[in-house]
Amino acid sequence: MEFSPHRLLGPYLLTKENIALVSHSKKPGVFAFGNLDEQKTFIPYVLGMSNVSISRRLHEGIDKFTHFKIYYTHTAREAFSEWCVLYHSFCGEGGAICSLLDRTHPQHPTEESWKCPVCHAR
Ligand SMILES: [Zn+2]
Repeated sequence: MEFSPHRLLGPYLLTKENIALVSHSKKPGVFAFGNLDEQKTFIPYVLGMSNVSISRRLHEGIDKFTHFKIYYTHTAREAFSEWCVLYHSFCGEGGAICSLLDRTHPQHPTEESWKCPVCHAR
């Protein structure tokens, strides 16, 4: 399986209308909240995943961020793996260019024992 940030769809303007448009399914997935810089490049500030329905999580970002990206997966475990890969791609070694507000490593759901596919942290 291959993971890369470009699989994220968007950026979309973070509005209730756009959330309704993209979150028609109840699949697990990963998302990013962020803003666009002057070159219209998406700068991610928050990464997250949802086990079931991503739209409720997306609504939490309204009025805090202007844009979001999203990627649906088939399973919650796949969503966790994508989340980890995104985290490492945005906040890799040293984290010097990391734009995330919270730089702590993604945490798997407490009832699971999944490992990060990149650094193998538990
Ligand atoms: Zn990791």
